[in-house]
Amino acid sequence: MYDYDLLVVGSANADLVVGVERRPGAGETVLGSDLALHPGGKGANQAVAAARLGARTALLARVGDDAHGRLLLDSQRDAGVDTVGVLVGGAPTGVALITVDPSGDNSIVVSPGANGRLGPEDIRSALSLLHASSVVSAQLEIPLETVVEVARNLPDGTRFVLNPSPPRPLPDELLAACDPLIVNEHEARVIAGGDLTGSPEDWARALLALGPRSVVVTLGAEGALVASAEGSVRVPSVKVEAVDTTGAGDAFTAALAWKLGTGAELAEAAAYAARVGAAAVTKAGAQVSFPTAEEVASLRG
Ligand code: ADP
Repeated sequence: MYDYDLLVVGSANADLVVGVERRPGAGETVLGSDLALHPGGKGANQAVAAARLGARTALLARVGDDAHGRLLLDSQRDAGVDTVGVLVGGAPTGVALITVDPSGDNSIVVSPGANGRLGPEDIRSALSLLHASSVVSAQLEIPLETVVEVARNLPDGTRFVLNPSPPRPLPDELLAACDPLIVNEHEARVIAGGDLTGSPEDWARALLALGPRSVVVTLGAEGALVASAEGSVRVPSVKVEAVDTTGAGDAFTAALAWKLGTGAELAEAAAYAARVGAAAVTKAGAQVSFPTAEEVASLRG
């Protein structure tokens, strides 16, 4: 029996958001709206999404010894995430500086800060957390060598789920550990080295040839596709009124990882994750939009 259904290894950022009429040019200053400060980062988002669904969840991450770090720790604890694996110090908390223009387009500068200091040695110091977890999920907003170290130290029987975002080419030993590798179209293209043609089924085949045990391609409002050596299956989406798709991929990945840990088959886990992703797009924001299990159950469609 595991202590945690899901261990998320990844980033935690403070998202600083300002609305602007237009972005400043070089040397220029513009006035913007009041500042909105939200907890974010793909790792922190996934952990909150899983915990809100009822998963026993832990986060392995690094934040700074500062106000943003405390905000992130508080938001994790409020959602019910165990923060025993959140390391503090080494650099300021990661920050995403986001401007939003009247058409809703974002421009984002990310300062990885403490996320960039979560090193392979931090994974080796947290092996007891890995051993206590049914599933481990990761993304790529922390150093790649840290994610590779997770894959190298996976206990027998612990499943590894990777959403390679932001995408970059991946080493074979990391790809071989993924079960599944979860990608959207853009990520699929980068991982496959730009060599993607045909249908999502064709993309999944090209990705499987790189070594992961299974692949999930997310297709936004079109749902998702799951693929393994046995073949591929489409997972339909749920029809909803989309308000804000921020964080949908994080909610999808967290829900899928958790369901796999409870013994669900990949297609069944992806169908549940599609309902969670759909529920998440019906509300503005990332973490605040993540549904509870009751909200997922009451989603029509
Ligand atoms: P990412 O945010 O990583 O690009 P997607 O946009 O593909 O990921 O969203 C992840 C999942 O969330 C999708 O596979 C789908 O199940 C669900 N989803 C996303 N957008 C919508 C939408 N407009 N309507 C219904 N479901 C959606």
